[in-house]
Amino acid sequence: MRSVDVIIVGASLSAAAAAKRLVDAGLETIVLERKELPRHKICSGILSPRGHRFLLENFGPLPREALHEPTACRGVTFHFPSMVSLSMDFFGGTTPHLHRKHSDHWAIKRSGAEIHDQTSFVGLQDNGDHVIVNARKNGTPLAYRARQVIGADGPSSLVIRSIYPDYPKQIPWFFVGQKFHDIIECPLSPDYFHFWFHPGLGHYTWSHARDGRQIVGVGFKRGDNFAQKHANVVNYLADRHGVRLHSHSEDEGCGENFGPSLINRYVFGTGNVLITGQAAGFLNMIGEGMSCALHSGAICGEAVVEARLRNRPMQGMYRRMIASEVRRTSDQWNPLKILFDNPHEADLKAAIMKFPMSDRTYMVRQMLAYIGQFRGYSWVKPILSASAKRLFLGRY
Ligand SMILES: Cc1cc2nc3c(=O)[nH]c(=O)nc-3n(C[C@H](O)[C@H](O)[C@H](O)COP(=O)(O)OP(=O)(O)OC[C@H]3O[C@@H](n4cnc5c(N)ncnc54)[C@H](O)[C@@H]3O)c2cc1C
Repeated sequence: MRSVDVIIVGASLSAAAAAKRLVDAGLETIVLERKELPRHKICSGILSPRGHRFLLENFGPLPREALHEPTACRGVTFHFPSMVSLSMDFFGGTTPHLHRKHSDHWAIKRSGAEIHDQTSFVGLQDNGDHVIVNARKNGTPLAYRARQVIGADGPSSLVIRSIYPDYPKQIPWFFVGQKFHDIIECPLSPDYFHFWFHPGLGHYTWSHARDGRQIVGVGFKRGDNFAQKHANVVNYLADRHGVRLHSHSEDEGCGENFGPSLINRYVFGTGNVLITGQAAGFLNMIGEGMSCALHSGAICGEAVVEARLRNRPMQGMYRRMIASEVRRTSDQWNPLKILFDNPHEADLKAAIMKFPMSDRTYMVRQMLAYIGQFRGYSWVKPILSASAKRLFLGRY
């Protein structure tokens, strides 16, 4: 059985960031990835400025193959039912439009960790001074022994389920689906990611250009009809925005653990097992998850290194170190922070101020209604009380 310092499950961005910290500190690290690398990852690939800085500082300039066309994104355009459209440029200029298949592979290779792809994590036993990790490669069972295990395996994390079997039942699940269309005519600027605050279209509706095609995506609840929701948006784009598309040539979708950062309910692990990235619950408002995956992954790797060097309990170390990232991510969802601070990576307030007062109040009302649409769910109360505590008492 192979014995190493740390096993990381998943070969995505949070894994690359964690692996970089561990390898830099001299810890022998193996990354297990269930798919063959480079692997496809459903994602719009719009990187925030903070995510871009992280990649540059830790892994260097991105290779061309790690970018889609258009290669850069200026920011986000919010569209409202009254047909007011609000474009916000990212702080500091454009950011790369990542091709996740290649950017993630590039980052994980640059981390310096040993990578075992086509190797699925299937379970673990934490024996106190070490963890046995069970995996499967092409149907053949494998076992590893490690001092620590990091679950960086994304929204439907099997590492979480192996330590907390009931966890998936305790959080809200949503689904997202996107279809790729050849374009007949598209007045939506290809320089921006477009997002609709529109109750009639659903709780998450987006569109953007990629490699000569237009992506139209929708979020939906279990039981909703993806095809119908998508057709509704395509018709709306045609009627209201003059977007004319051929019928789709490809589609894809997945389940998302959307919500833990909204309700401040993250999962960081237990014993020798740590959880990071989207698996831990990091997801910024409007579904931007790469920057917090990178930063939480790096903090997770640092926590392992620090705890070992100082001979301190690792879970406590991780929780203390991750607090700043928790605050940053949860603040993005906080209506009070949105109104009175600037928690996002584009200047929402400056963009709004360019409009007449009647439009400003209308847009703010629509955005609050967007967050408020989750009011029907029992998990909204905790975020509001957490927000109030954070704002008025400075703690969470
Ligand atoms: C439609 C869509 C659009 C998005 N658009 C954006 C965007 O524009 N900008 C943005 O910042 N974020 C976006 N996101 C969110 C972003 O993709 C995620 O938040 C981010 O990828 C999370 O990174 P991660 O490292 O935590 O995990 P993931 O990227 O989910 O990676 C997890 C890895 O673990 C592997 N894995 C899973 N289970 C196992 C197992 N049992 N054994 C071994 N390996 C395993 C997976 O194959 C995968 O490689 C989008 C998400 C979706 C669904």
